[in-house]
Amino acid sequence: MTGIEKSPATTDDLFAPQGNRLTVLSFGAGQDSSALLELYLDDPDFRRRYAPNDFVVVMSDTGDEFDQTYDHIRDVQRRCKEAGVEFVLINPDMGFHSESWRSLRHFYRTKGTIGSKAFPKTCTDRLKIQPIYRWLEHWLSQRYGVKCNRKAGIREFAARYGRIKMMIGIAKGEESRMADPAKNPNRWYRESIEPIYPLVDMGMDRAACQELLHAKGLYVIPSNCKACPFLSEPELEYLRRFNPESLADWVELEAAKLKKHADKNEVIVTDKDGQPKRDRHGNVKVENRNYGVFGVTPLPVKIEQAKEDYASWSDEDIAAYRYSHGHCVATAF
Ligand code: SF4
Repeated sequence: MTGIEKSPATTDDLFAPQGNRLTVLSFGAGQDSSALLELYLDDPDFRRRYAPNDFVVVMSDTGDEFDQTYDHIRDVQRRCKEAGVEFVLINPDMGFHSESWRSLRHFYRTKGTIGSKAFPKTCTDRLKIQPIYRWLEHWLSQRYGVKCNRKAGIREFAARYGRIKMMIGIAKGEESRMADPAKNPNRWYRESIEPIYPLVDMGMDRAACQELLHAKGLYVIPSNCKACPFLSEPELEYLRRFNPESLADWVELEAAKLKKHADKNEVIVTDKDGQPKRDRHGNVKVENRNYGVFGVTPLPVKIEQAKEDYASWSDEDIAAYRYSHGHCVATAF
């Protein structure tokens, strides 16, 4: 699966998990998972310890990454090819994304909705986790001959070859994002997947990952969707200055959602018995439940706020902030 030669065995092998046939690097194209890939490419000890046998890198495209991230992905694809490492970028045409979630904005546009801080977060699951595991079962069936049937193939593989090590780019200091696999609701996952976090294991924080990338001449920005409801004010200002068209499209998508759901602008507030609540003047209480990206404050207002708050920051300041702050709140998978 890789052209990289494995190092001869050393005493370290006593601690290396040799039993598992396959390690999958879940690549997000940000700084953490990029550092993991560089470690894999460069460091025989790393490979021996975390990916001693078959190895594949996989990324699911949200369709809304920054241009620099797509450039980085292309560069990584090229270098993986040269090194004989399989890199799979799952795009919607491959059939592993659902029809509703072909991309982040496709979902917003076709459903007349918008990702909001006020709603439960489903985007990471729909755009990344689900496509990756659909692809994985299909890939296993082609490579190892297991059947492909609602994750039975993943279980079959794990029963034959040991649990699949899913290598996740979470750095030291971000441990709260590490998931407990025993708590995963899916039996196939509990039985077949072993998430591993080498950066935490090795004590590498985000700064150490940046340093490692710099040493290789790589300037990798944190990866996240441009229309992500979890971005911070300076990131919004970054978008306004550097990606105004993308921001304008996002504003339109929010406006379309707010228009479509205008009936929720004034919802009667009820008590636990379903009776309308009243204020001290006896008037029925109403509430705006027509949420946009940031709840009831519309995106254009937030944009203006960010513009004002960061007026004194130069373009370089804003870009430096963007470089050092990733914000995708994806939990581990
Ligand atoms: S970056 Fe934001 S919008 Fe994109 S998948 Fe992650 S949480 Fe969702």
